[in-house]
Amino acid sequence: MARIVQKFGGTSVADVDRIRNVANKVAAEVRAGHQVAVVVSAMAGQTNGLVKHCTEISPIHDAREYDVVVAAGEQITSGLLALALQKIGIPARSWLGWQLPVRTDGTHGKARILGIETAEIERRMDQGEVAVVAGFQGIAEGDHRITTLGRGGSDTSAVALAAALDAERCDIYTDVDGVYTTDPRIVAKARKLERITYEEMLELASQGAKVLQTRSVEMAMNHRVRVQVLSSFDERPGSDLPGTLVVDEDEIVEQEIVSGIAYSRDEAKITLVRVPDRPGIAASIFGPLAEAAINVDMIVQNVSDDGKTTDLTFTVGKADLDRARHVIEAAEHDLRYQRLVADGDVVKVSVIGVGMRSHAGVAQRMFRALADKGINILVISTSEIKVSVLIAEEYAELALRALHTAYGLDRA
Ligand code: ADP
Ligand code: ASP
Ligand code: MG
Repeated sequence: MARIVQKFGGTSVADVDRIRNVANKVAAEVRAGHQVAVVVSAMAGQTNGLVKHCTEISPIHDAREYDVVVAAGEQITSGLLALALQKIGIPARSWLGWQLPVRTDGTHGKARILGIETAEIERRMDQGEVAVVAGFQGIAEGDHRITTLGRGGSDTSAVALAAALDAERCDIYTDVDGVYTTDPRIVAKARKLERITYEEMLELASQGAKVLQTRSVEMAMNHRVRVQVLSSFDERPGSDLPGTLVVDEDEIVEQEIVSGIAYSRDEAKITLVRVPDRPGIAASIFGPLAEAAINVDMIVQNVSDDGKTTDLTFTVGKADLDRARHVIEAAEHDLRYQRLVADGDVVKVSVIGVGMRSHAGVAQRMFRALADKGINILVISTSEIKVSVLIAEEYAELALRALHTAYGLDRA
């Protein structure tokens, strides 16, 4: 007998039939003698709809009330799944974030989990009851308001619950049957990976592969939770097609130089034209942005040709573009740039692999492959196991396919 956590994403609980299908998957584990806790997302599209309601009332709104609204979708699916389980004879009870509770910090809209109290559900799991936990939500320490964990946050709920329960596995059921070399919805030749290291999965997720929320991978890595990504749509009786296991580096037998390619459309580029080239100028641009809690990702500063002025380009999240522009324009008097150019039609493409640490020429191959397709690179950034480029959005799919082939990742 093992204790396991199963998480079902939005498409897996998109309607009542699919919730019944999920109940059967849970029942199979229970009948195999396991203790099961389930984490559910909201029905597909629900959270988007709730977010839209908030922004329709006001584009800039109270984050506490936003959380009350957007957390609602998971309340519905947790109750429905408990009902569906009861219907097929499996004792089950739903749990909202505040009921366990899932304690978080007070960063509404993107709260961090501080701890989960599991004594009561463990007592009930010992008696054979399935705990159906609403993902994505918690309760803030201090003011005890409802919080949410950021988009895609049910993955993190599941991994955190698996860590708190000391579960043997955390199975993340979604609409693809594993983690692929790149988004299989865009590149038909993408290959399913049997295993991927925590580190690479973390980098893929943080560069835009939404199959797992970045924080869930961080948490799995820190608590050594065995995460498996698999499909909830495989109807083969008895077992699932094996999905993808997220593991330590030493569990990978054959290491590719590049194991995955991610993209993010969530980027925007700002260029400040002809900024005075003097010490302290970067600090005076990025200081106010940091104070406004705007994350800056890629940065390039051109060599100045006259020694007096330079162009400075950087990227921020697309959702922060208007605010960033506002912050910079408010400081225009001090910065004395000539012109601000903003561009939201960009995409960041990143190639990722731990093998890069010991191999040269990875970036060069990327630049060559893009050049061969006539794709212009706007900004470049690198880290130990990643090379990212910013390109015009219209080339996103072409670039992904070209890079996938160039690094030998295409399925035979
Ligand atoms: P869920 O609702 O189950 O949480 P998500 O939509 O959040 O599902 O994540 C699954 C999606 O992630 C897939 O449908 C796929 O389009 C996308 N995706 C992006 N990159 C990858 C990748 N490398 N491997 C698998 N899926 C990926
Ligand atoms: N329902 C939430 C979202 O759409 C959380 C999740 O699905 O993981 O972001
Ligand atoms: Mg998701």
